[in-house]
Amino acid sequence: MKKIILLIGLTATICTALILGCKHYESAKNNQTIEISQQPNLIVIMADDLGYADVGFNGCKDIPTPNIDRIAENGVMCTNAYTTYSVCSPSRAGFITGRYPQRFGYERNVQYRVNDPEMGLSKDEATLATFLKQAGYKSGVIGKWHLGAHQSNHPLNRGFDEFYGHLGGGHRYFSEELVIDDSYAAVDEPESYRTWIMRNHGHEKTDEYLTDEFSNEAVQFVVRHKDEPFFLYLSYNAPHAPMQATEKYLSRFPNIEDIKRKTYAAMVSAVDDGVGNLLNKLAELDIEENTIVIFLSDNGGPEKNNASDNGILREGKGSVYEGGFRVPFAIQYKAKFDKGVYNKPISALDIYATMAAITATPENPNKPLDGVNLIPYITGENKEVPHETIYLRKFDQNRFAVRNNDYKLVTFNNGSVKELYNLKEDISESKNIIGDFPEIANQIDTIRGEWAKQLIDPAFLGLIHTDAWQKSGKKGKKK
Ligand code: CA
Repeated sequence: MKKIILLIGLTATICTALILGCKHYESAKNNQTIEISQQPNLIVIMADDLGYADVGFNGCKDIPTPNIDRIAENGVMCTNAYTTYSVCSPSRAGFITGRYPQRFGYERNVQYRVNDPEMGLSKDEATLATFLKQAGYKSGVIGKWHLGAHQSNHPLNRGFDEFYGHLGGGHRYFSEELVIDDSYAAVDEPESYRTWIMRNHGHEKTDEYLTDEFSNEAVQFVVRHKDEPFFLYLSYNAPHAPMQATEKYLSRFPNIEDIKRKTYAAMVSAVDDGVGNLLNKLAELDIEENTIVIFLSDNGGPEKNNASDNGILREGKGSVYEGGFRVPFAIQYKAKFDKGVYNKPISALDIYATMAAITATPENPNKPLDGVNLIPYITGENKEVPHETIYLRKFDQNRFAVRNNDYKLVTFNNGSVKELYNLKEDISESKNIIGDFPEIANQIDTIRGEWAKQLIDPAFLGLIHTDAWQKSGKKGKKK
């Protein structure tokens, strides 16, 4: 009798699994098979210009970030995580397409040009939201977009179902300073910082501190979509300049005397509160287990500009050294990951590739992804290195940075100047050892050259080319 009950129970379990759509997913790159019972939700929380050493899980002492740290404590902190660029706009283009942005000419910060359809993400590229839509996800962006201000590049025209935020590269935080009621009436970057906040294609007057606005919206987004697979891109513009914080947050730092660092700390603290509210809501709605939550910064901290701190990493935002594009990164996926630390190199590119593997959505063969499915690596099922090589090119400066395993080659001026570092022994890139290891440098330079052949020149004039754009007379006309 017992056996029969057991058999019925087992059959019921199999049937339930079939009814729930228990599938096997295969990652194209790694041939790893993953079994999951449900499509997980994805929340990517991207801070803006946050320093590597400015979160508790990376050792920050003067700014407590207990809520951001919860993601690392409930999951995995990744110590060698890179973005695809060391400034905002191209970094986000890499993340949202899962491809190195240098492949499609996205190598500059965009200008805020509402009449120029070419100023932003190429229409030939698909976003993660477009991709996930095919798998039945609902996607939303809350916060900073910065992938083009022309209507054709509006989030709702790039695969997202919802948008609450601003189109440009930054925004003023106090509602009384947001005096332009239409984003498309702003003519340049400074004006774009003062627009009302867009809700989908409309505009709203806000009354709260902007970071709090975005946090509240994020909580409401998950409440709205709790019963279906969702992708939330919570793209805080904090702690990017302008340095503005409310007394509520400033008062938490009576011991920080430097006013810029104090304001920065307050801005980070506001983000941390928002992350906490969001995590609490996931738990309350009982969707915590099946939601992947990732926290990262879009690039390194511009230390002089916003008083951020990249710790022992060399330089910061804009640089080809580690401080430019190695970022704080933590990932929580309670259904799959035990608490841990992952030290092998990973990339923001991997977020897209991971979701592609999970949803088993076929890749576009003409647009191969540059990332890998992180899940088997983080679970330990795959002990290989996710990325033997991490690449960065900065076209306008004639610079490359290519990390191959522990070694990193940095080249300047079309390769006439070369530097080699061993990151395992010298994380601060303080000792150029190219004289001792010319063969390693040559090997990496060959890899660099092969990658460079796959890239194209920048497709639009960037923020530093404002005058050239004005003189070009293009103003919205196609090249
Ligand atoms: Ca940034």
